[in-house]
Amino acid sequence: MKLKTLEISGFKSFADKTKIEFMSGLTGIVGPNGSGKSNIIEAIRWVLGEQSAKDLRGTKMTDVIFAGSANRKPLNRAEVSITFDNADHYLKSDFSEVKVTRRLFRNGESGYLVNGQDCRLRDILELFMDTGLGRESFSIISQGRVEAIFNSKPEDRRSIIEEVAGVYKYKQNKDKAQKELGNTREYLNRVNDIIAELE
Ligand code: ATP
Repeated sequence: MKLKTLEISGFKSFADKTKIEFMSGLTGIVGPNGSGKSNIIEAIRWVLGEQSAKDLRGTKMTDVIFAGSANRKPLNRAEVSITFDNADHYLKSDFSEVKVTRRLFRNGESGYLVNGQDCRLRDILELFMDTGLGRESFSIISQGRVEAIFNSKPEDRRSIIEEVAGVYKYKQNKDKAQKELGNTREYLNRVNDIIAELE
């Protein structure tokens, strides 16, 4: 799975439709203070289902809609689309390209689409579950978070790295398997007891 494009329109400082195409390798976004770099990251978090206006530096969700500037009127709609190359079907979808869209109107109406089909927030969350790209994942680390990670205890930092590396779900599977093994051992002991009694 690879991030291909991000289209932003009417979201925060991006009044006009802006399309960012991500090439192979590392992409850096540079620009002067206040030019909208963080807004791009917030657009990604928003389209992936972010529900906290506070975490998007607002007080209510409609604050993400372009609020106007010195020479431009406010807009009534914010829309962000993110497209992933899903040729490896890393995302549980039959499509080899997955495009997720979120839109919000100033009157509060909103919606999500996956490849042009209306869907619920729950569908989006399920689509990205266990991919490391979910709402609460560490794939996107904001400025304040970096400091928090540096200052965290080694055990906490280890669990962050494990989650990013996708080890967490295997650890859970291992715990489950060990519990089942324990149960099976107990059943075996019981069967052996019964056999011993019968002999
Ligand atoms: P820095 O380098 O200082 O972190 P940045 O490049 O990350 O800055 P952002 O924080 O992404 O910049 O953008 C801030 C700009 O976005 C501000 O000028 C702010 O007025 C504008 N902005 C935020 N929300 C809206 C909105 N709803 N409508 C219009 N402009 C907005």
